Amino acid sequence: MKILVINCGSSSLKYQAFNMENEDVLAKGVVERIGIEGSKLKHEPHNGDETEIEKDVSDHKEAFKLVVDALTNEQHGVLSSLEEIDAVGHRVVHGGEEFSESVVINDEVMSALDRCISLAPLHNPPNIYGIEAAKENVPGVTQVAVFDTAFHQSMPKKSYLYGLPYEYYEKHSIRRYGFHGTSHKYVANRAAEMLGKPLNELKLITCHLGNGASVAAIDKGESVDTSMGLTPLEGLVMGTRSGSLDPAIIKYLMDKEDLTIEEVDTILNKKSGVLGLSEVSNDFRDIEKATEDGNEKAKTALDVFYYNVRKYVGSYLATLNGADAVIFTAGLGENSPGVREAVTEDMSYAGIELDKEKNQVRGKETDVSKDNASCKVLVIPTNEELMIARETKALAK
Ligand code: AMP
Repeated sequence: MKILVINCGSSSLKYQAFNMENEDVLAKGVVERIGIEGSKLKHEPHNGDETEIEKDVSDHKEAFKLVVDALTNEQHGVLSSLEEIDAVGHRVVHGGEEFSESVVINDEVMSALDRCISLAPLHNPPNIYGIEAAKENVPGVTQVAVFDTAFHQSMPKKSYLYGLPYEYYEKHSIRRYGFHGTSHKYVANRAAEMLGKPLNELKLITCHLGNGASVAAIDKGESVDTSMGLTPLEGLVMGTRSGSLDPAIIKYLMDKEDLTIEEVDTILNKKSGVLGLSEVSNDFRDIEKATEDGNEKAKTALDVFYYNVRKYVGSYLATLNGADAVIFTAGLGENSPGVREAVTEDMSYAGIELDKEKNQVRGKETDVSKDNASCKVLVIPTNEELMIARETKALAK
């Protein structure tokens, strides 16, 4: 079975084609600058070098056409024809309360996706364009939606309700949804395999630490709490996002700096986090380097970030009454020994004891805890595309 996985942003379309017999990636790539001058496709077949095709594409439908042409191209293609595609899996950011699992897309699902737009006005529309593009380019092929929010729909009310008048939850669906669900689910499954225990017997804390970052508490395979909220802005201090803060700061900042609500929103989403604190970069590699070079603000940014993650891990240890493993994933979690050391320091009360030598690992599945630690620390590279392909395969069957 061959599956194409699609992840659409407002001006980009990322894809991976999988052979699900062995879960091999046949090709992957991205169309960048959709609707902007200078758009191009970067295509990387498994059996050849990356090629770049420059072609103006005005929308996601044209971008999708470029992708399927590349996939079936005589020189750098990996499929003999489009008939080989058995199903298309789409990453969809927000499924609201409508979706607690992946679904085969039909007209009813499309209407529900439309209803979710107001919850994610920047993210969901391009996801919908991607689905429409696929329907047009590969008609008749099963389309599956895999939601970032679905895995967290198992959270109990006490985790997802905010301390707001209840009517706003009822009228406007204002509640915690959580994101990165596909990643948290993938690493939780891998952790169970690494630990050699069934997932439904495990208590796990998964730390997805990339440019966007979130932590989840997973009990018996179900998400019971997570740090992101109605939107991905809540929770940890991130690359450019502020994470949680006193809501009164918003009005105070508007008054003091004479800002509009839109300007504050941009500051909180794009200019805050470790970028805002360090005044160096949103890339943790740059901040780690600046810290080594003695930059005090960069060091402070890292300290704030590490402390934030520690607080969530600590609170989820309380939620779960201890854990069997703490898992680190995504760009920073997979690649930075420093973050794992700082977050797990002095947590022997919870059975967490990092082996500093084993911890010198980057991007490789590894148990980095001491042999006798009762709560393991695991590094597990995430693979959201493979998870989407697996969910798509299960439903397309
Ligand atoms: P992601 O959003 O998962 O792609 O992660 C991106 C973040 O991971 C960026 O802030 C990168 O700086 C960080 N990252 C990637 N590789 C490394 C590395 N080797 N060391 C430290 N941080 C890294």
